[in-house]
Amino acid sequence: MNKLMKVVIVGGGSSGWMAASMLARLMGQQLDITLIESDDVGTVGVGEATIPPIAYFNKVLGIDENEFLRETGGTFKLGIEFDGWHTPGKAYMHAFGRIGKDMGLAGFHHTWLRAKAAGHVSDYWDYSLNYQAAKANKYQPLATIPNTNLQGLVHAYHFDAGLYARYLRKLSELWGVTRQEGFIEKVNLNPTSGCIDSVTLKSGQAIEGDFFIDCSGFRALLIGDALKTGYEDWRHWLPCDRAMAVPCERVDPVMPYTRSMAHGAGWQWRIPLQHRTGNGLVYCSDYYTDEQARELLLSNLDASPTGDPRPIKFVTGRREKQWYKNCVALGLASGFLEPLESTSLHLVQSGIVRLMKLFPRQQMNQIDIDEYNRQSQIEFERIRDFIILHYVLNDRPEPFWQRCREMPIPDTLAHKIELFAQSGRVFREQDELFTDIAWYQVMMGQGVMPRAYHSLADSLSEQQVEELLSSLSTLVNGTVSQLSTHNDYLNRACKAHF
Ligand SMILES: Cc1cc2nc3c(=O)[nH]c(=O)nc-3n(C[C@H](O)[C@H](O)[C@H](O)COP(=O)(O)OP(=O)(O)OC[C@H]3O[C@@H](n4cnc5c(N)ncnc54)[C@H](O)[C@@H]3O)c2cc1C
Repeated sequence: MNKLMKVVIVGGGSSGWMAASMLARLMGQQLDITLIESDDVGTVGVGEATIPPIAYFNKVLGIDENEFLRETGGTFKLGIEFDGWHTPGKAYMHAFGRIGKDMGLAGFHHTWLRAKAAGHVSDYWDYSLNYQAAKANKYQPLATIPNTNLQGLVHAYHFDAGLYARYLRKLSELWGVTRQEGFIEKVNLNPTSGCIDSVTLKSGQAIEGDFFIDCSGFRALLIGDALKTGYEDWRHWLPCDRAMAVPCERVDPVMPYTRSMAHGAGWQWRIPLQHRTGNGLVYCSDYYTDEQARELLLSNLDASPTGDPRPIKFVTGRREKQWYKNCVALGLASGFLEPLESTSLHLVQSGIVRLMKLFPRQQMNQIDIDEYNRQSQIEFERIRDFIILHYVLNDRPEPFWQRCREMPIPDTLAHKIELFAQSGRVFREQDELFTDIAWYQVMMGQGVMPRAYHSLADSLSEQQVEELLSSLSTLVNGTVSQLSTHNDYLNRACKAHF
C-alpha cells in the first residue's frame, strides 16, 4: 500500500520512541516512519516517575502491564509525598484517586471540613485508600472497595526510562518503524515555504520527510535551532534551574509512592524501582553551587550510590509554538516543567494524542496547527500553576523559600487559591490534567484551610456525619489490611530478572 506521508522523528529518548510506537500502532498503514538517534549524543537518562494516565497509553499500545514492569524494573506508584514543603518536618501526600464519599455536588472535603469545625480530629487523608495503602507499603490491583461502589486503588508507575525507551523501540521496529543511527549536522529548510525538507547526517546522508517530529531533547534541533520558534521563560515563577541525578542501591521495602523532600534551595526526589532507587536534587543555582548540590544529594541517600551524580541544566518554560510549519516538538524540545508532579512524560503522551487527533492529511492546515498550539498552551499553563502552588504556599525560613513565598504568581493561580481559601471550592478548567482532589490535597498540605464549607454538608445531622466518617475510615482500614504488600505483589506478578 502506498504510504500517504513520510514522517521523520528526530530523537530516540522516551519522547521519540513513545511517538514512534503510537504512530506506528495507530497509523502505521498510512505513514512511513523513520526515527533518527545518535548514540554519541545519548538521552537525558531521567524521567522515571509517572501519573496514572500512562496506563492508558500502554494499553492502547497493547502492552501487558506485568510484562512492562518486568522489562523496565518498574514498581507501582500511588501518590507523591511532599516532605517539608510547607514546614520542615511536616509531610503530606498528593494521593491519586478519590477521597471519602462526595455529597452530591459538594466534594467529600466539605463534609470533613464541617466535622473538623465541630471538633472532629481525623485527618483528610484518613479517608484516602491510596494514601493509607501507600504508607502501609501495600499494593494489589483493586478496581473498587469490595462490596461498595467506592473507587479502589488508582496507580501510576515508577520505571527505568532507558529500559522503557528500549522496550518501545522493540515494538516500534516490529510495527515497521525504521531506526537510523546518526548525528544530524544540518537541518535543510525549503527556501520558499520555510518548512523542513530534510536533515543531513554527519555521514553526508540526507533524510527527507513530509512531516518532522522534534524529540531531540533540550537541544531542540528542529523547532528551536532551525525554525527559531521562541521560548517562554518561566524562571521568575519557578526559579530552580539545575538538577543533580544519581541512582543508589535498592531499598526494602520498595515503597509504592514517590518522595519529594524539600531542602534549603530546592528539593530531592526518591523514586523506588525494583533494581535500584532513582534520586535527584532539583535546585536553584542562585543559592547552591553544583558542588554543594552534589554533597547535599550524596549525604541524603538511603543507600550507597551506584554511579556519579550527573548535573543537568534546564530553563523552565515552553516553546511559544509547539507546532510550527511541518514540525511538532514533543518532550524536552517542547518545553520543560520540573518533575515535581511527574508531568513530563504525560505531556509527551498528551502531545501525541493531540497530534493524532489533528494529524495532517498530506497538507498542513493552519487552523489545525493553531488548535494544537492553543490546547498545548492551556495544558502547560495549568500544570505550571499547579507546580507553582507547591512553592508559593510555604512557611520555610530559608531565603529561597522566602523568595518563592513573596514572588508574584499568575492571576489564574491567585484566583484558584483565593477561591479555595474562602469557600473550599476548586473548579477543573478546560480538560485540566489535575483533578479538584489533587488541588485540595496540595492546598491543604501547603497550609490553606478553607474558611467555609458548602451548605450541602449541613444536610446531614452531626450524628450522621460521625457515622459516615467512622464507616469510611473502617472501610479504608479494613481494605488496606487485606491488601498484599507491594514487595509481595511485585515478586508474584512482575519481578524483574536483572
Ligand atoms: C532532572 C529531570 C528529571 C526528570 N524526571 C522526570 C520524571 O520523574 N517523570 C517524567 O515524566 N519526566 C521526567 N523528566 C522529563 C523526562 O526525562 C523527559 O520528558 C523524557 O525523558 C523525554 O526526553 P526526550 O526524549 O524529549 O529527550 P532526550 O532523552 O534528551 O532524547 C533526545 C534524543 O535526541 C537525540 N539527538 C539529540 N541531538 C541529536 C543530533 N544532533 N543528531 C541525532 N540525534 C540527536 C539523542 O540521541 C536522543 O536520542 C525529567 C527531566 C529532567 C531533566
